[in-house]
Amino acid sequence: MSVLSESYARALAGEALSFREAAALWHEAPLAELMAAADDVRRRLHPGDTVTWQIDRNVNITNVCVSGCKFCNFHCRLADRERAYVTSMEEYRRKIREMLDLGGEQLLLQGGLHPRLDLKWYEELFRQLKSEFPNVKLHALGPPEIAHIARISGFTADAEGYRTVLERLQKVGLDSLPGAGAEILDNDIRKRISPGKCSADTWLEVMRTAHRMGLCTSATMMYGHVERPEHRILHLLKIRDLQSLRPEGTPGFLAFIAWPYQGRGTALEREERLPGGADTAEFLRMIALSRLVLNNVPNIQASWLTTGIAAGQMALHGGANDMGSIMIEENVVSSTGFEGRTTIDAERMQEAIRAAGFTPALRNQRYELL
Ligand code: SF4
Repeated sequence: MSVLSESYARALAGEALSFREAAALWHEAPLAELMAAADDVRRRLHPGDTVTWQIDRNVNITNVCVSGCKFCNFHCRLADRERAYVTSMEEYRRKIREMLDLGGEQLLLQGGLHPRLDLKWYEELFRQLKSEFPNVKLHALGPPEIAHIARISGFTADAEGYRTVLERLQKVGLDSLPGAGAEILDNDIRKRISPGKCSADTWLEVMRTAHRMGLCTSATMMYGHVERPEHRILHLLKIRDLQSLRPEGTPGFLAFIAWPYQGRGTALEREERLPGGADTAEFLRMIALSRLVLNNVPNIQASWLTTGIAAGQMALHGGANDMGSIMIEENVVSSTGFEGRTTIDAERMQEAIRAAGFTPALRNQRYELL
């Protein structure tokens, strides 16, 4: 048996592939073969033809951010009086009502890393949102924001500090933690692309803490900038290793979501001449490899936001079992020069899933069918 066939067989049996095996698959496997193997694994984990999707609304709490990610045109400094904003309660009410009218039940709340909004401020925000909309789920913040809030609120930069922040937020309504800000889990890469964001170790420590508390989370990867394929593989292995440490009976990472970097008009394009862009074949290879390597993460999302819906449909035949959210609002990708469509409606999402040969099923954040 060749190394590749042996790796396919081991992945299909649910075994954990080594770095060497994953690297061989990335560099040597023909794409069609890799996708077919990932499709076999997907069928074992998710028999049948159901593809899940979700309705939620992405709201940015503020665009003020000290992180200075070089791929982001959305953020600004606190002193930028023309652009800086913090979303008001009135705006939340309007956006939540719009989402409820469309059948959504979850807010994806994300930063920037505002230098003055501390834990007490977030507690008040969550308390207020839950008191007015008790049934709306808060899928909120992410490891860089938790680490940032801990720091500016005077807590220690360790598991104890992160646990304090997460527990207090959970008490006032935090339902789940998105895997935002993972980019590539390598400290040198992170210094180049997002110098003010938490380190890879901190990202993993916050997630480890969340998993110990039983919080449901996801993991992400933004690839296609300054990293090499080896960094992507190590990133997958770090996610898999952390997932294997979650306490029994807890969900840990429910899903993995990877997307290619889009850099038009960003500092990363100017400084490193990296315009980014969606290479569909590379995206499909990434999705398939993720399905084969992440043997303990149940769901792989076909993140179509930067690749287009057609690439997402193809990914459903190569390891992905979920199409993510209809994205009622999206700000970070659409603030670059990206010209693709970053939102679609529920009808079009279901049509796309059907056209790809599957049956759409609406789900919640816990991947329970609605
Ligand atoms: S991507 Fe997020 S964390 Fe990075 S600069 Fe933009 S708003 Fe801040």
